[in-house]
Amino acid sequence: MEQNNTDKPVRHSQKKFFHRKKFCRFCTDSNLKIDYKYPAVLNNFVTERGKIMPRRITGNCARHQRELAVAIKRARAIAIMPFVAAENK
Ligand SMILES: [Zn+2]
Repeated sequence: MEQNNTDKPVRHSQKKFFHRKKFCRFCTDSNLKIDYKYPAVLNNFVTERGKIMPRRITGNCARHQRELAVAIKRARAIAIMPFVAAENK
């Protein structure tokens, strides 16, 4: 008995390649405000250890990234956000 391989279903190699266009979230969403009083927003842009994410990851524009950094630093200064989250002392 001969095996016929031709009727094998062609595996459609569909790569789920997200074309992640990097847009500044603050430019696209006018409701999103950079404010040190809203750590919930700022927390999206820091790592779990409390570091500010670089622009190439967040996709922010230079202007907003700068504002963001200022807001995060301000939030840290008034102890809304931690400098380092995972600190074991
Ligand atoms: Zn922007």
